[in-house]
Amino acid sequence: MEDPPPEYANGYYDEAVEQLREREYPSLKDVTYLDHAGTTLYAKSLIESFSRDLTSNLFGNPHSASASSQLTTNRVDDIRLRVLRFFNADPDVYDLVFVANATAGIKLVADALRDYGERRSGFWYGYHVESHTSLVGVREVADAGNKCFMTDDEVEKWIAGLGEDAPPTSPEDETPKLFAYPAQSNMTGRRLPLRWCKEICQARKGNCFTLLDAAALISTAPLDLGDPCLTPDFVVLSFYKIFGFPDLGALIVRKDSGHVFRRRRYFGGGTVDMVIALGTQWHAKKEVSIHDQLEDGTLPFHNIIALDSALEVHKRLYGSMANISSHTGLLANELFERLSSLKHYNGSPVCQLYTSPSSSYTDRSTQGPIIAFNLRDSRGNWVGKSEVEKLASVKGIHLRSGTLCNPGGAASHLGLNDTEMLQNFSAGQRCGDEHDIMQGKPTGALRVSFGAMSSWGDVTTFINFIQEFYVDKGPVVAPALSTPIANSRFYVESLCVYPIKSCAGFKVPQGMSWRVNREGLAWDREWCLIHQGTGVALSQKRYPRMALIRPYIDLDRGVLRVTCGGLLSSTEEGHLEISLARDDPELVSAEMCQNSMQKSSTVCGDRVIVQVYSSPAVSSFFSDFLGIPCTLARLPPQTFTRYSKAHPAERPVHERPDMSMPGSFPDATSSRGKPQQNPILLSNESPILLISRSSVNRLNESIKANSKTGTGINKAVAADVFRANIVVAENLSATTAASGECSGEQPYIEDSWTSLRIGPHGLEFDVLGSCRRCQMVCIDQLTAERREEPFSTLAKTRRIGGKIFFGRHIGLSSSSCTGDDDDGSEGRSIRVGDAVIPSYD
Ligand SMILES: *Cc1c(COP(=O)(O)O)cnc(C)c1O
Repeated sequence: MEDPPPEYANGYYDEAVEQLREREYPSLKDVTYLDHAGTTLYAKSLIESFSRDLTSNLFGNPHSASASSQLTTNRVDDIRLRVLRFFNADPDVYDLVFVANATAGIKLVADALRDYGERRSGFWYGYHVESHTSLVGVREVADAGNKCFMTDDEVEKWIAGLGEDAPPTSPEDETPKLFAYPAQSNMTGRRLPLRWCKEICQARKGNCFTLLDAAALISTAPLDLGDPCLTPDFVVLSFYKIFGFPDLGALIVRKDSGHVFRRRRYFGGGTVDMVIALGTQWHAKKEVSIHDQLEDGTLPFHNIIALDSALEVHKRLYGSMANISSHTGLLANELFERLSSLKHYNGSPVCQLYTSPSSSYTDRSTQGPIIAFNLRDSRGNWVGKSEVEKLASVKGIHLRSGTLCNPGGAASHLGLNDTEMLQNFSAGQRCGDEHDIMQGKPTGALRVSFGAMSSWGDVTTFINFIQEFYVDKGPVVAPALSTPIANSRFYVESLCVYPIKSCAGFKVPQGMSWRVNREGLAWDREWCLIHQGTGVALSQKRYPRMALIRPYIDLDRGVLRVTCGGLLSSTEEGHLEISLARDDPELVSAEMCQNSMQKSSTVCGDRVIVQVYSSPAVSSFFSDFLGIPCTLARLPPQTFTRYSKAHPAERPVHERPDMSMPGSFPDATSSRGKPQQNPILLSNESPILLISRSSVNRLNESIKANSKTGTGINKAVAADVFRANIVVAENLSATTAASGECSGEQPYIEDSWTSLRIGPHGLEFDVLGSCRRCQMVCIDQLTAERREEPFSTLAKTRRIGGKIFFGRHIGLSSSSCTGDDDDGSEGRSIRVGDAVIPSYD
């Protein structure tokens, strides 16, 4: 990567951005934040200044006579003007209405127009295809019709035609029209022509209004409402996109068009001069100003007051929005150039960038600092966006993916038509899920966006990330498998059950036989923790501390004993005991039958009924430790029916490669849209997860080879991060002695197993598929800390078709399932040290 160009090195701000970041944005230490289009970040000085303002003043509810109230009123009046000036808007021409966010401003305009026409017959709505969902939604209240303009040409033709309409007899006769578009696309960063506002204003006869969505633009560019070419009737924006804080929005209204709000029906709080509440239904609306008429209820005055600090600190740090535009534009252009020129070893491009022919990264007036794209491998296959996100999250890179709240922009860039989108929806695709590629096309894009405090280092980090993981340096070859050695030397090294999903495992003691059921090892994932507010089962991916909740199965006493806390921590966090019996009269049954409630719980979108322990002692035990309101739930018996032998034909082994690891939850991908399947379950997708010690060893060798030498950090991982039920290992000396062969370990040979037998009775298991991994493997199971490995190295060494696999899912084979589940025969159990005899393709 090259050094930054002189413009960057000289800096657009008074201070070098690196220095400014260190002082003002401590949260950026160790992370690469590339989602400024989602929200930019607030400076430390902003928060400190705001906090000083609050602690040194007494602010009352505005509009009373008291000094504290007057202070608030005055400050709000001043700030309103100050914000108008920030946008160079003449206060004689424009008024500013404080609203919750840009969306609330849009809704206010839409609601007013619905009631505005003489006959209240609604309004007609036109919007540009690159609109944010918040603009698209207006079409639902536009009773007189709507149109999505697919191209700029269409918009310009329509504008040209506006003047040709016969002039209406009276202005209010005509059905009002509203045309809305984003000043900048929040998906691609394209900046749309601002002159449309002026052209519509000039061409219009009667009631045709423009609504400019400036929410994305104002984050990194000046909005100059003093420019005679820019004459929107309504402008909406959110302040957090400029300053990072406060969470507040504005609707700027051209006073000439303020009459639109005259017929607004609702009133509330301070927007009326007098209301008769008893008897006659009469009220007098405030006529003084537009904002007085529209700001219902108490203003968010503390948030408004924060704008003073925000404006001041922003000016001190950055000087002007023009500086920010130049700074971020330079970064975006650099990243764009770099991404465009990335090639795989065979010359094929790595990135598909979504850009508009009418914009250019070298021209700030047509392009903002946002880049939307997808990745392909060297064979031209798409790389799933959520796979990239998982790896990015491990690397501390924050980016955005999906359709980015920009349905029209996404569909047109991704080449998805209505029919395809509906098909994808029927097939289960939902906002935010992992249906990355459907019918051979990506369903969303990746987006990186820069903000005022982004740096050259962010560009470098991101490019290095793409280069390291997504540029194929040579032909992708499937890892070669060693030829199986005739005499199997595999044995069960350890057995582990996870009584509470996503919590620590319980190691089966040496010498103890452990029962195997169709659904998996006995007591495996019988319980889970659910959020008391949402009913959602908790996962370690989100709450790493769950790794420190340690269940212990005490079969002699018939209890599940749970302790919390680090193994090495000296503080005794107490413990909890739950009866293993479903109908234990002493503790559980009492809780479950009398006090427990049936509560539906959401796991991957399916609702299942679980038994919840409603005892405050149980819920506070877990809630206090995790710091989230949650409680323990027991899964109903016999929910693990997916692999029951009654349905073997439904899921051939080879069609099921996508299974999750125990303790994580199945992807939404794998459970939706297959109505014929057995009812779903709080369980994982597979009964038992098996990994091989030899593979863990090989992985650790790769991690060592990949990590920069001399860092002194040992990045090797323990086998327990994979949360397997069975770890198999190879007895090397045994083979050598028996066969005279002298060969090393056989890492990843388990990938070619189709079935295996374990133990003296040869209990038979089918291999059901490989285990797809997510960043949860990065959670150290002893300390609950998130690390970079092993996911980084897995991504480099174990990625097949864009997905990362490690370990195998297995389940009792049908032949082993004959007989009563409760026959208690020794044959249905396994123990540490048992021999493992695999079969191969
Ligand atoms: C962010 C954004 C919005 C929505 O802003 P809210 O604060 O969520 O109301 C609308 N349009 C564009 C272009 C945006 O970037």
